[in-house]
Amino acid sequence: MSIVKVEKLKKVFGEKSNQITVLNDVSFEINEGEFVSLMGASGSGKSTLLYLIGGLDKPTEGKVLIDDKDINLLKEKDMAKLRRKDIGFVFQFYNLVQNLTVEENIMLPVVMDGKKEKDYKERLDKILKIIGLEDKRKNLPNELSGGQQQRVSIARAIILSPKLLLADEPIGNLDSKSGDDIMKLFKKINKDEKITILQVTHSADAAKYGNRLINLKDGKII
Ligand code: ADP
Ligand code: MG
Repeated sequence: MSIVKVEKLKKVFGEKSNQITVLNDVSFEINEGEFVSLMGASGSGKSTLLYLIGGLDKPTEGKVLIDDKDINLLKEKDMAKLRRKDIGFVFQFYNLVQNLTVEENIMLPVVMDGKKEKDYKERLDKILKIIGLEDKRKNLPNELSGGQQQRVSIARAIILSPKLLLADEPIGNLDSKSGDDIMKLFKKINKDEKITILQVTHSADAAKYGNRLINLKDGKII
């Protein structure tokens, strides 16, 4: 069963005289439960593709279907809900709130979604255990290493059990040991939490943690 379907996607930036076509007729599917790695040179449109799939930007032409629904036909309210609940995002630079503790950062989506924090106590404990930071729950982000901060951002991305996790160069800022640990964590989340993952990566080693590789070149899948 496909969870992501991209159909003839095209993205053009800029006005008439200085237009650039970043994605040109891109089509592929991701099935539920997959862990897909997306590679391509810098500037090849990887982030753009991820943002289109996550509903953070709109295509010039073509469609993105999540669970067989064209996300660009959703009302703004339903689109916001999709981004908040069904899709988790992880970025290269963690994007943690510096004056909130580890557990407060992880619980942000719960609070933003208007849910009761106490209903998520067990989920929080479980996730802290998965990311191996139970002893750091009261710490602030700047008291953690880069790898630990990225684990917190992953925890925040999965607290509401999204169907899909989108990660944009999640280990781009980490040393290779920390990067490997993050890849193992993704693998575990993919398997145990049954969350489908699409990661953008520069590293062939990191890409191997996925079950499939998609290559982007000159706006097309090769
Ligand atoms: P990658 O993530 O593969 O490095 P990006 O998707 O970030 O590539 O960018 C692909 C191309 O699109 C680049 O040439 C970039 O300059 C251009 N681009 C990305 N976002 C915008 C934007 N908002 N406006 C204009 N050009 C953009
Ligand atoms: Mg990018």
